[in-house]
Amino acid sequence: KFRGLVLSQQDKSVQAEFQDLSVDDLPDGDVLVRVDWSTLNYKDGMILNGLGRLVRHYPHVPGVDFAGEVVSSGDGRYAPGDQVILTGWRVGEAHWGGYAQYARVRADWLVPMPDGLDGAHAMAIGTAGFTSMLAVMALEEQGVSPDQDGEILVTGAAGGVGSVAVSILTKLGYRVAASTGRKDTHDYLRGLGAVSIVDRSELEDASKPLLSERWLGAIDSVGSSTLAHVLSEMKYHGVVAACGLAGGPDLPATVIPFLLRGVRLIGIDSVMCPYEKRVSAWDRLAQDLPMVGLDSATTKVALRDILPWGEKILKGQVRGRLLINVQDC
Ligand code: NAP
Repeated sequence: KFRGLVLSQQDKSVQAEFQDLSVDDLPDGDVLVRVDWSTLNYKDGMILNGLGRLVRHYPHVPGVDFAGEVVSSGDGRYAPGDQVILTGWRVGEAHWGGYAQYARVRADWLVPMPDGLDGAHAMAIGTAGFTSMLAVMALEEQGVSPDQDGEILVTGAAGGVGSVAVSILTKLGYRVAASTGRKDTHDYLRGLGAVSIVDRSELEDASKPLLSERWLGAIDSVGSSTLAHVLSEMKYHGVVAACGLAGGPDLPATVIPFLLRGVRLIGIDSVMCPYEKRVSAWDRLAQDLPMVGLDSATTKVALRDILPWGEKILKGQVRGRLLINVQDC
């Protein structure tokens, strides 16, 4: 027997309950993993609160990310004792996830723990931090480099994706401008390396298609009018990596920044990201994300205490990353 958080649906509302489970309750898969650590991402907050029709079948174990140790494996790539990471592939949405002490999944979804990381740090990074790395790699692939003149703007900077993006970009030598709506996070963001802070309200007006050129690159976790505003402030040939929709899924923009400034808008998807790119992004995280910054951005929470945090993240009240101790349940 082991413990897990189980969601069930009653009269269209979702209830969460900690239950005793057994390995026989787990869905099919080739690898059984003892889950030591998980995370809470924005999407987990939506799932815990039954939003977005992300989960179609109940009962359901949420948790889109986990790290742990292989207990048994029917796949030659993994053996008992291996440390592994899982993010994405709709685990925690369409398949049972990491908020239980054991998980059974497809070997194809796992990534071996890279040298230099352990399970707790991997989950302090989680899908949010993995997405930040994919966004940084997208800027690099488009030719943005630290020796060019200008700042990289990170929106939603005090959130999970934003905090890790600020840390990585700083370590790589970029000048980072952090946009936040929370004044009490300014010192925290400067501590992660931001050289300037932009109030969220300065980026919300999407009424002008073109504004003065301001940003060499941008990593946006907000979407909506913020992303439209950012597009209108990009320097000539600037690159924007669009990662999130914390401000809304719409994009009230014009094509003018693309036509007059050759601005490039690159979409970032962490969920179905192919295996080779995953492995290289995790290797880069082990190399290019300062662990001191990551530790200062991480709050550790026992799985038994997770539910109020699911509500807080939807209200934009979580600073940085949440690391979930799954064995404490
Ligand atoms: P998070 O920790 O809640 O961070 C989101 C941040 O956005 C908040 O901390 C807040 O930053 C800002 N924000 C919140 N509400 C806002 C609003 N109404 N208007 C403007 N800014 C607002 O969430 P996360 O886990 O980092 O995820 C961020 C976004 O990325 C989410 O939309 C998530 O779904 C998306 N995401 C996408 C992928 C992908 O594969 N593309 C992967 C992971 C996450 P400040 O307090 O600093 O203003």
